[in-house]
Amino acid sequence: MSRILSNTDKTHIAKWVGEAQLISIFAHQSPDGDAVGSSLGLANALISMGKKVKVILPDALPVFYYFLQGAHDIVFFHENPDEVKNIIAQSDLRFYLDFNRIDRVGHELAKYLADYTGNSIMIDHHQQPDDVASVLFSDTTFTSTSEMIFQLLHQLDWMEHLNLPAMEAIYTGVVTDTGSFRFPVVTAGTHQMVAFMLERGLNHAKIHQEVYDTQNFNRLQLTGYALGQKLVYRPEKKLAYITLSQAELNRFHHQSGDTEGLVNQALSIGGVTMAVFLREAEEPGIVRCSFRSKGDHDVNVFARQNWNGGGHKNAAGGKFHGTLEQAIELLENLTA
Ligand code: 5GP
Ligand code: MN
Repeated sequence: MSRILSNTDKTHIAKWVGEAQLISIFAHQSPDGDAVGSSLGLANALISMGKKVKVILPDALPVFYYFLQGAHDIVFFHENPDEVKNIIAQSDLRFYLDFNRIDRVGHELAKYLADYTGNSIMIDHHQQPDDVASVLFSDTTFTSTSEMIFQLLHQLDWMEHLNLPAMEAIYTGVVTDTGSFRFPVVTAGTHQMVAFMLERGLNHAKIHQEVYDTQNFNRLQLTGYALGQKLVYRPEKKLAYITLSQAELNRFHHQSGDTEGLVNQALSIGGVTMAVFLREAEEPGIVRCSFRSKGDHDVNVFARQNWNGGGHKNAAGGKFHGTLEQAIELLENLTA
């Protein structure tokens, strides 16, 4: 784990990027602001270097990230698996961003990536990354993979390619992964990076407005329903949780990203140290789980041990195999 790339790694990255005809960039399933921001931040910088780049995501992007330059060119594996296979076959360098285990892109896509030989670079800030890439840039002290993309450009002397589209994407990833600069992981270095980008012309207010103030009516109604009728508060356990079924999501014409931030609302109750959001997935028999905590309460361990997931100490996720009712029962039992 290091915040600084070794000279050997820098030499490899510069050589591979220099020689590549087609570079592909992959991020994790259910892409969040950091997955999208780091991917498009890097893509826009590489495009500025004259490179041909394809960003591939396993599944849909929250609608409020479509303002970022390049979002409309993203290829989605769940929509175009054949195109993705072609891109994988043709690309001579891959970046793996914002995930630490290859199956975070989903089992199907993971199979294609595992079969591919060729150079790959993993950039990630989660704990215990797998050894699956030719170069690994991993450090949990970074706020976000997006901040690491800024560092990559800085350390490789590529700052001239940090153009406005790249800065907007990186800032989006940093803002969303830090809860708007509030989590303990934020450092003076994070703010220095932002100051640098502001001096270069980044409009931070525009990004906040795009990400947080473009909700549609249905989404706000869904939030109201979730908080008003589905929030379960267990003060004796210092726990609060929200569960939503597919039927409930459909009632509010749910779109990808609509439930982002709900779990943080549950955590905002005074005295609550862990908040959980359980959402029935579209695939039958799967429940998607989000965990948030305060202080020393470690949800990374909780997610790894019980929910086929992981993440960070205060923010983690996972995937439960079974019904929503069974997931709720497990949660109640584990916190009993
Ligand atoms: P979220 O609750 O926003 O989906 O995820 C919170 C954090 O946990 C993120 O850092 C995310 O990368 C990580 N995470 C979410 N789902 C999973 C999962 O299924 N497996 C692992 N290892 N990490 C996850
Ligand atoms: Mn991240």
